[in-house]
Amino acid sequence: MERYLTADHERLRAEVRDFAQQIIAPRARDLDERAEFPWEAVKAMAERGWLGLTVPRELGGAGLDYLSYLVVIEELAKVDASHAITVSAHTGLALSPLLAFGSDAQKRKYVPLLARTVLGGFGLTEPAAGSDASRSRTRAQRENGGYRVSGSKIFITHAGVGEIFVVTAVTDPDLGPRGITSFIVTKPTVDLDRARSIGYGHSDALEFAPGVYAGKKEDKMGWRASDTRELILEDAFVPEQNRLGGEGEGFVNFMKTLDAGRIGLAALSLGLAQGALASAILYADRRTQFGKKLREFQALQFEFADLATGIEAGRHLTYHAAWLKERAKRYTKEAAMAKLFCSELAMKATIRAVQMIGGLGYTDQYPVERMMRDAKVCEIGEGTSEIQRMVIARNLISEMLGGASEIQIE
Ligand SMILES: Cc1cc2nc3c(=O)[nH]c(=O)nc-3n(C[C@H](O)[C@H](O)[C@H](O)COP(=O)(O)OP(=O)(O)OC[C@H]3O[C@@H](n4cnc5c(N)ncnc54)[C@H](O)[C@@H]3O)c2cc1C
Repeated sequence: MERYLTADHERLRAEVRDFAQQIIAPRARDLDERAEFPWEAVKAMAERGWLGLTVPRELGGAGLDYLSYLVVIEELAKVDASHAITVSAHTGLALSPLLAFGSDAQKRKYVPLLARTVLGGFGLTEPAAGSDASRSRTRAQRENGGYRVSGSKIFITHAGVGEIFVVTAVTDPDLGPRGITSFIVTKPTVDLDRARSIGYGHSDALEFAPGVYAGKKEDKMGWRASDTRELILEDAFVPEQNRLGGEGEGFVNFMKTLDAGRIGLAALSLGLAQGALASAILYADRRTQFGKKLREFQALQFEFADLATGIEAGRHLTYHAAWLKERAKRYTKEAAMAKLFCSELAMKATIRAVQMIGGLGYTDQYPVERMMRDAKVCEIGEGTSEIQRMVIARNLISEMLGGASEIQIE
């Protein structure tokens, strides 16, 4: 991976690995069981600059590249996917659109807070607008100096714990996707007392308008220590200066955000696959059956080889998509390929790891059963596997018919 990663990336990787082993690993099972948000670990990550890794230094961030962010996500997910998605959703889905489409004033106001003090989220999905996000029904109507916004955003990561959100709403229902605009909205964290007591997660510098609040926490199969809820907008007044980009640009800007976000989810899936494979190999070295260590059976060795090959291929896809993004080249297809391949690999690797560890793999004594539950949502969030295939096919066909193919068929 030297083609992509520098010594600085590897130093960062080692730092995150130590943190994940010392701070996250001992608590991950308990947090998962109790579906508890890891406030202390998130604060510790914010103090290390990992919640603002890609934010320029002048806006309070670490000023690192996108690959550094992927390295952090991958390393965290080797140990616990809930911690990884917390950093990933915050950085890839909330900070990214602010940095890409925000005005200077919006960046100065919100980005330093997100880099150090509060969590952010991204509100696109609605009850009637899932895979087809253009069916948004959240409505933003112009009113003196701003917009009155009403609607419901569902399955929103950090809807409860976060304070700054980018959301889409329809400003002109006659224009379809071109009538969708994005906005910045704020609400106080639901864990105000906790946030105040630890000094992270709430900012008195934010104004919280009435009408934006979080619904009940989802009781999920995986990513249980990550916060997922409905984000409700009820006649919420959003001032004009909180419109993100121009009217009608919201849908396209959110799709661009998802392109980048998908590389993050690919890195998270890769981390899960590596964590599962490592657990299986370590167990196979410890466990003896039929007078041999499990690792001596060729059937298991072939499993290790296949999964390791998939991980290597997935890392190339993921780092290559990031490499294209860093060079401002087109990467929609490559990001979808990385996300599709790595999320399906994570599912396969975690299922196989449970199988290789046997009965104990099916209990909470080993992390692989949690990893298996955590892997499933990687095939759903930020566009399902079916949607990734649609994106890949659409781009592929247009490249081929646009003259990119050198193959003649007649
Ligand atoms: C834990 C979690 C966290 C999330 N975080 C966020 C967040 O922070 N922000 C946010 O906006 N959203 C978030 N989501 C929502 C997520 O992005 C959606 O769940 C996802 O895009 C799928 O939408 P849906 O659930 O409505 O499924 P649907 O769109 O109803 O799809 C159901 C099934 O039909 C398939 N399908 C749909 N259309 C087609 C088609 N044309 N061809 C073939 N198959 C099709 C899908 O692939 C899927 O298998 C989160 C979801 C979860 C579970």
